[in-house]
Amino acid sequence: MPGADYIYPNVTEVARRGGFLERWHLAEPLGCAYIEIPGDFVKNGTEVERTGQEIGSMLNRSSVEHLYEQDTALPGSLSYVLHTEPAIPRRDRHGRQVTAELRWRDPDWVTAFGDMLLEIEDFLGIPPEIIEIHPGDRRNAHADIVTAMHTLIAAHWNAFGVEPLVLLEHHKDQSISTASQMQAFWATLKRIHPEIAGLAGIALDPWHLHAAAKEDFPGALDEVPLDALRAFHIHNDLAPPSVTDEMPWRQVFGVIGSLPGRPRIKPVVYQKSRVPGAIAFCEAMLAAPRVEYAGPPA
Ligand SMILES: [Zn+2]
Repeated sequence: MPGADYIYPNVTEVARRGGFLERWHLAEPLGCAYIEIPGDFVKNGTEVERTGQEIGSMLNRSSVEHLYEQDTALPGSLSYVLHTEPAIPRRDRHGRQVTAELRWRDPDWVTAFGDMLLEIEDFLGIPPEIIEIHPGDRRNAHADIVTAMHTLIAAHWNAFGVEPLVLLEHHKDQSISTASQMQAFWATLKRIHPEIAGLAGIALDPWHLHAAAKEDFPGALDEVPLDALRAFHIHNDLAPPSVTDEMPWRQVFGVIGSLPGRPRIKPVVYQKSRVPGAIAFCEAMLAAPRVEYAGPPA
């Protein structure tokens, strides 16, 4: 019995965006509780050719049908995390850099974004347990992101009669990157939509927090709003974690282990050969005796 509910990451060996079963057959032998399904906008030249849509476009229904595989006879235990457009720079077919824009401040855009997710989920056959979103640039205020999370939860309730967990992934280059920004975001959520505080939250990515906080990381980790944390992304710049990393993994796993309930952990590695080792690392860290963190030298 693993010490966490693991999310099998979106490994590159899976053909295109794929379907559930190919991923589930990789995830289940490792005891993973979830698979990650990519829910990006049109993201590369191959997808432009397959869909006829420009890079960075939201998928229309026809594109969804061209990019995903539909499986029948899904196991009842299958659960998934839909990882949505991360707004990271990509190259179009002319070699130009394109970054999709996340417009949480624009209610019509948020509705279209939710419709795209519902099309993917309808085609795949079941709704996700968890949806991951990203903050985008500074033009999205915290309240805009909170309102969008509320809209996405309501859209799923209306379409499927279920409410997914909607988690915000902070990112070192986006508008929510530091622990104090996470605190401010979470305070905004509890102020304007306290009724979704159990359905929304933050996926903590220690590598991105470390990249934002640098040598202040131990203090930053202490400032993260613990009651917002619903999942953890574990990697060392997309490589498997190791005790030789600069990251104080014992402190990180001390926080993870201190929270109520079983943690949800996504090892963020992109080759299937690296997933078992990354899970084993997390298991060893979770099983290690808690070491009190002494804090940085004065
Ligand atoms: Zn992400």
